[in-house]
Amino acid sequence: MKYDVMIIGAGPGGIYSAYELIRNRPDLKIAVLESRHKLENRHCPIDGKKITGCVNCKSCAIMNGFGGAGAFSDGKYNITNDFGGTLYEFIGRDTAIDLMNYVDRINLEHGGEGTKLYTTAGSEFKKICMQNKLTLLEASVRHLGTDINYKVLENLYREMEPHADFFFDTPVRHVRVIDGGYEAVLDQGSVTADRCIVSVGRSGSKWMEKICRELGIKTKSNRVDIGVRVEIPAVIFSHLTDQLYESKIVYRTEKFEDNVRTFCMNPHGIVVNENTNGIVTVNGHSFEAEDKKTDNTNFALLVSKNFTEPFNDSNGYGESIARLSNMLGGGVIVQRFGDLERGRRSTVKRIEEGHVRPTLNATPGDLSLVLPKRILDGIIEMIYALDKIAPGTANDDTLLYGVEVKFYNMEVKLKKNMETKYPGLYMIGDGSGVTHSLSHASASGVFVARDILKSL
Ligand SMILES: Cc1cc2nc3c(=O)[nH]c(=O)nc-3n(C[C@H](O)[C@H](O)[C@H](O)COP(=O)(O)OP(=O)(O)OC[C@H]3O[C@@H](n4cnc5c(N)ncnc54)[C@H](O)[C@@H]3O)c2cc1C
Repeated sequence: MKYDVMIIGAGPGGIYSAYELIRNRPDLKIAVLESRHKLENRHCPIDGKKITGCVNCKSCAIMNGFGGAGAFSDGKYNITNDFGGTLYEFIGRDTAIDLMNYVDRINLEHGGEGTKLYTTAGSEFKKICMQNKLTLLEASVRHLGTDINYKVLENLYREMEPHADFFFDTPVRHVRVIDGGYEAVLDQGSVTADRCIVSVGRSGSKWMEKICRELGIKTKSNRVDIGVRVEIPAVIFSHLTDQLYESKIVYRTEKFEDNVRTFCMNPHGIVVNENTNGIVTVNGHSFEAEDKKTDNTNFALLVSKNFTEPFNDSNGYGESIARLSNMLGGGVIVQRFGDLERGRRSTVKRIEEGHVRPTLNATPGDLSLVLPKRILDGIIEMIYALDKIAPGTANDDTLLYGVEVKFYNMEVKLKKNMETKYPGLYMIGDGSGVTHSLSHASASGVFVARDILKSL
């Protein structure tokens, strides 16, 4: 059967494009091709008892399957143009915010009702940050929490399933331009459609490079964010997190004038492993349910590296640093801030004697052997800057997990409507390099669905 639209990847980008198409034209023939499992069949083998660390599964259950990388995330939908992607450069600032608000309403209608929307608007912390050489970025953030986020995905799937053909465990190997449409080449057979939306996320980055090469679609790759995940007693940041939940704070270092920023703040959350193409890095999330809350808050401190000619493999650079930490620690390394400052590694004993109980079983070690000096110096400077607005951040027992790397997909050359040079072939979400977040990826899905609806 030839479909009207096929969607490759069932992460937020793919889901919300399918949702918008179905909502407006339930008569359309839609195929969703997802390389991994249905939501209920996604299981990470780490159980905290027998398996405590990443075992490098062939395909990561945290990153792949219905819901994409967002399925077990903290479900923080940031409604802002200040971070999370550059969707606004394509569709305009107002449209981008409208679409993010629209996605928020869909989430509320599908199980998110009653969750809290935090906002920086009118916050007294803006001034306090400014007085301490820190900048608080503007945003509203809907915090669904990992559990409600999962429920929303379940509900969306239940509603869409009768109106679309979902193919799970179906990796698309190639995309071919055929007469009057596109062909997705599978391990066995193929699927064809008039229009094709590609939304394969970060885990599909290598695949995207290949597809763009095969189709002669131009790309560029020059950014990677590298840093650590900080874990502290929740009470140290509670005045900020109670009011804002997530605060995106930027610090400009004195030494190198680099920007260091907080990223993905998880009050009462846990630190987790993330496996991207076999490389183990660190991430974090938190649950909405009271009984799953921990005594700690975690957030990342990241430094952006933008490379210039002739180097153009920013992800390769980030991967090398992550590999180094994997080589030394067998996975993620954890170090007390006090040990880092004293120039010594952390040991199991020193971590046990500390007052912060780690929520991830990582290998105690020395991050200064892994992170480039310029990046590490920036992170240390920022920890002391944060200590001024949240005293205790620079305590000896503060835990630093490394490395956290935000790989950016190469940016695909797209028209303003997110179409490639091929009419009807769209590339959206994190895989396109345009978005880096749940809300932007989802909004890009709604946007292209509407573009397709207009053209039908
Ligand atoms: C642990 C964790 C926590 C996070 N927390 C947050 C948060 O709180 N807030 C936030 O804004 N962002 C968060 N993020 C980031 C967010 O999840 C992503 O930005 C978002 O999921 C991107 O959506 P996407 O649809 O572009 O891609 P993805 O969600 O990555 O989905 C892509 C899908 O495509 C599939 N795919 C890949 N290749 C192929 C192929 N060849 N054929 C078929 N299918 C394929 C993959 O299996 C995957 O399911 C988090 C990420 C992680 C890993």
